[in-house]
Amino acid sequence: MKTGLETLILPAGEAGAEAAARTLAAGGLVAFPTETVYGLGADAANATAIAHLYAAKGRPAFNPLIAHVADLSAARRIGRFDARALQLAAAFWPGPLTLVLPKTEDCPVADLATAGLDTVAIRIPAHPVAQAILRAFGGAVVAPSANISGHVSPTLAGHVESDLSGRIDLIVDGGPVEVGVESTILGCFDQPMLLRPGGLSRERIEAVLGSALTRPPMEAEGDDSQPLAPGMLASHYAPRAPWRANSRGFSPRAAGSTCCPSGRRTQT
Ligand code: AMP
Ligand code: MG
Repeated sequence: MKTGLETLILPAGEAGAEAAARTLAAGGLVAFPTETVYGLGADAANATAIAHLYAAKGRPAFNPLIAHVADLSAARRIGRFDARALQLAAAFWPGPLTLVLPKTEDCPVADLATAGLDTVAIRIPAHPVAQAILRAFGGAVVAPSANISGHVSPTLAGHVESDLSGRIDLIVDGGPVEVGVESTILGCFDQPMLLRPGGLSRERIEAVLGSALTRPPMEAEGDDSQPLAPGMLASHYAPRAPWRANSRGFSPRAAGSTCCPSGRRTQT
């Protein structure tokens, strides 16, 4: 792992987005706000940068990453969209929905980012700072939450700093993020499948599809097959602080995690 890096903190804005783009292009690691949590970005096409990202987070490389892009045409360069996936993209992007799709033939996302799978997870974030950075950079950016694996996801630049200072190149401070919960992950398989609950509700997705989402096999009773979303193992949920379900009126960070609908959120 690259240690002892001097982690620069810049305010969001044109100069911040340009510095972020330059750092990403040089293979560096940049934390920035999305509407869900602060993400830790690396060039999705650069396997060395991605290896640094896994190391900086202490995240196992079998847990694949989500590729973030600025718009649908960029998304279509990396994933194969059928009519249903296009319908979901039109309804919910930009926003807190990740679609898992077959890779395109010339998908630029490094195999290390997708754990060698022939599918790729894609999202278009709505946050203006994330959008500005993605547009300035031009390519896809993998961006898991900007925390050490096992810690609670950051909703402020200060959270990122306390976890990752000295391990990453740049933090773009765009203030507090709104959702505080990771994106909903939907597998666009023959039967659309809810792989991880998140910032977009199952009901809203089902309303667009006009049918119920299936559950991953690992959730079905008596089924011990491999999970389809590799990072969803129960052991990944490991906050350090006590947490309270459905509590209101105080900071999630101060109280550990307060919102864990299924108890199976990844914390990486
Ligand atoms: P995050 O931990 O928020 O960065 O979200 C990444 C999660 O997306 C992983 O832990 C997996 O559960 C899921 N994921 C990413 N890529 C794939 C893929 N190709 N197939 C299935 N799930 C994926
Ligand atoms: Mg995470």
